[in-house]
Amino acid sequence: MKDKMIRAIDETGTIRAHVAVTKEVVEEARRLHNTSKTATAALGRALTAGLLLRNNLKNEKDSLTLNIIGSGDLGRIVVTGKNDDYIKGYVDNLTADVLIRESDGKLDVGRLVGPEGRLSVVMDLGLKEPYVGQVPLHNGEIAEDVAHYLLQSEQIHSAVGLGVLIDTDMTVSEAGGFIIQLMPDVEESTIEKLERNLKDMKSVTDLLSTVDSVEEFLEKLLPDFKMEIIEDKPVYFKCECSKEKVEDALSSLAPSEIKEMIDEDGGAEVTCHFCNKVYNFDLGELEHVYDLSQARFKDEE
Ligand code: ZN
Repeated sequence: MKDKMIRAIDETGTIRAHVAVTKEVVEEARRLHNTSKTATAALGRALTAGLLLRNNLKNEKDSLTLNIIGSGDLGRIVVTGKNDDYIKGYVDNLTADVLIRESDGKLDVGRLVGPEGRLSVVMDLGLKEPYVGQVPLHNGEIAEDVAHYLLQSEQIHSAVGLGVLIDTDMTVSEAGGFIIQLMPDVEESTIEKLERNLKDMKSVTDLLSTVDSVEEFLEKLLPDFKMEIIEDKPVYFKCECSKEKVEDALSSLAPSEIKEMIDEDGGAEVTCHFCNKVYNFDLGELEHVYDLSQARFKDEE
């Protein structure tokens, strides 16, 4: 089953669904970051949520960043992407892990992430200021935290489901999720129908293991609804970092800091947070960065 995201709407126009299959996205994140089992699940849920939340973006260059900073051992989760087919993300403590939850035998994402903390969404829509919405964490399981965010910040009632299943060899065997939203003018009978569907629903990963496509996933989520797909696109984990971009970021440091690197280390090694790629700057390259930084600071004076 290929990774894909779809947007769909019911015939009354009052139920909207955003559904994604993200197994390859999450597996690529795991491969690049070499995360623990529960960290993979947390990052995978956040990556899927980040993709699903992008429905508010309009232009290709608009971007969305989801930040989750919890009190648990995982530290920060950051997921970001433009309004295209790509997403990327990282967690602070890749190897942090917790025991399987005794009550249901599942990965205890809530404990690794939360329970205290906050979730914020930054949307850059090309306006003067980005939009920033922030809510306290509900339980650190991410799906409910996102639902809570949508209600508090955007006043939209939503059902959110996110799931990542990890195989015994640590690879990702299923991943995906959904956001189902009720528009303000929804009729009572439609809400009841939706509640019936959600009540009978299996877990996201159980559902994913029984379907062959994201379209079928949507059908199983909302069997009583006739949904029309209005958008579909492939999704990939991809970091677009490059030596030029890293050089640009380095040159925004104060000249004195770069001088220190030149004098003490004779070069610099920079690792990209999002993909773990390492960029080396030799002495000559660092001297060039120093010149750029000096020119930059002169301009700002
Ligand atoms: Zn990168």
